[in-house]
Amino acid sequence: MSIHDFPRHPLTFGPSPVHRLARLTEHFGGAQVWAKREDVNSGLAFGGNKTRKLEYIVPDVLASGADTLVSIGGYQSNHTRQVAAVAAHLGLKCRLVQEKWVDWDDPVNDKVGNILLSRIMGADSRLDPHGFDIGIRTSWEDALREVEESGGTPYGIPAGASEHALGGLGFANWAYEVAEQEKDLGVFFDTIVVCTVTGSTHAGMIAGFAALEDAGGRPRRVIGIDASATLDKTREQVRRIAQHTADLIGLGRALREDEVTVLEGWAGDLYGIPVQSTIDAIRLSGSLEGMIIDPVYEGKSMAGLIDLVASGDIPRDSTVLYAHLGGQPALNAYSAIFEEGWV
Ligand code: PLP
Repeated sequence: MSIHDFPRHPLTFGPSPVHRLARLTEHFGGAQVWAKREDVNSGLAFGGNKTRKLEYIVPDVLASGADTLVSIGGYQSNHTRQVAAVAAHLGLKCRLVQEKWVDWDDPVNDKVGNILLSRIMGADSRLDPHGFDIGIRTSWEDALREVEESGGTPYGIPAGASEHALGGLGFANWAYEVAEQEKDLGVFFDTIVVCTVTGSTHAGMIAGFAALEDAGGRPRRVIGIDASATLDKTREQVRRIAQHTADLIGLGRALREDEVTVLEGWAGDLYGIPVQSTIDAIRLSGSLEGMIIDPVYEGKSMAGLIDLVASGDIPRDSTVLYAHLGGQPALNAYSAIFEEGWV
């Protein structure tokens, strides 16, 4: 099997845009930096990385005969917002478990941004006091059971769609899409920088780029920047999902250690809590490029990119592709960090 043999239900506009970040590149004075924009990949509730993953999961949903998508995330989960949008688009019901993954006391944290959008789209979104964990949760299993007991047919999608057998395919295909766009643009991205938390975005890329390399493509580095602050769990999850996805798409070998790189240093102490480097990265990206990034995910991966270029870890002659995975709606719950007097 190759990636092209898996059914894909289109939810995106097509290939996501790739463009140069000219002013950031000039500011860095080092590597050439480009972005690939999953934040504008779809007309479904602002899209994002989960919308791409769901393209490969929806055929299984439709074949299952389910009438309700059941998923889980934090109060400001981008994932559950995208599941709610896909449910609305397909004419299905949606039950969401929104756990208190982030101890963030903004008074509108459970009212605006992602959770507001999910409610607008008709999802049954219920708050749950449990804290952050990227694994399979009993609260989600309970919700599946409740839907069944009330006569519905649930289809479970775990956090970030990562612990789903098909969860890595969306970003394995992203690698192939990049290779096509490189031909059109006449450029080669030797380094990919991506934020990683539940793992299947990064894992899918690892599998896809490994398959391209084995088919004769030039090698490249795929650098995951941890934003979970539970590094060991995320690294292990990335490795496992990458291998599983590689097996699905017919790589036919074990991934090497050097193909699974998750770097720490920019997550701070806790998932969902921005630190000074996150805020600096958000301001820099906004003020130099008009490119908006969020305080939970992309603000942290951009902070990583900035430091890796500055330190020369990403060499001056590199051409880098920064994966912008979406996530801006959460900014509404973080207005305080841009008020004077914060860090
Ligand atoms: N960026 C954004 C905006 C996200 O919503 C997520 C989801 O968790 C990520 C990055 C990380 O992706 P993953 O969970 O697949 O590692």
